[in-house]
Amino acid sequence: MLTPLVAGNWKMNTTLREGAGLVMSLRELIKGVDSVEILIAPPFTHLHHLSHLAADSPIKLAAQNVYWEKKGAFTGEISPEMLKDVGCRYVIIGHSERRQYFHETDETVNRKLLFSIKEGLKPIVCVGETLEEREAGKALTKVRSQLKKALSGIVVGTLKEVAVAYEPVWAIGTGRNASPEDAEEVHSAIKELLFDMFDTEFANSVRVIYGGSVKPDNMDALMAQPNIDGALVGGASLKAADFARIIKFQSQK
Ligand code: PEP
Repeated sequence: MLTPLVAGNWKMNTTLREGAGLVMSLRELIKGVDSVEILIAPPFTHLHHLSHLAADSPIKLAAQNVYWEKKGAFTGEISPEMLKDVGCRYVIIGHSERRQYFHETDETVNRKLLFSIKEGLKPIVCVGETLEEREAGKALTKVRSQLKKALSGIVVGTLKEVAVAYEPVWAIGTGRNASPEDAEEVHSAIKELLFDMFDTEFANSVRVIYGGSVKPDNMDALMAQPNIDGALVGGASLKAADFARIIKFQSQK
């Protein structure tokens, strides 16, 4: 059984003061939870301070983005080493908002992923189809193609931990989530692809988490699906009580 992974993507929200309040509330609300891995991905500017506030708690830090060079003349970018330096060990790569608004491509996602792994960050790579693609019956083809390209060139021995987030674009921030059965269909296709691409031990270790309007009232049903190993949560991760309830989901496989 894989340890479920629940990650909160704060996107471009919260001042440092608000973020600190959120972490302190969350710490209280999740006391005693030890069976779920918990991540928050605040804005870059908060990482250092929040990593101190989250010390000695189950809350770990993730970044929302990273660059594929060690250092140099890349104005506005952040390297894996800088993230590790402020206590951040995870990074979200290829979120659909980055693909849509900042022109990230499968190629840049792959570069970020390979470099993060090389530098010892644990990546969560996002894939997902648009509404048009789903309606045209192309959801699985799209997700398989994105994932294949994202993971290309990975040398299994170098890879410690990677997670995949399936996030149908039409479900992000829209209040419209995929049904547990629709999500399960894609998750199981992702796992099949991982078994095709990698050895069994590695493929078995990859958590495939769902994202797209996850809320306290739909988390239990999603987590009851055999191939849903956690959640990437946007809006609901900004409310400590909601995020805590999502973390304390109640379902059995
Ligand atoms: C996300 O930011 O990855 C996300 C899934 O957002 P939301 O939960 O708000 O749909």
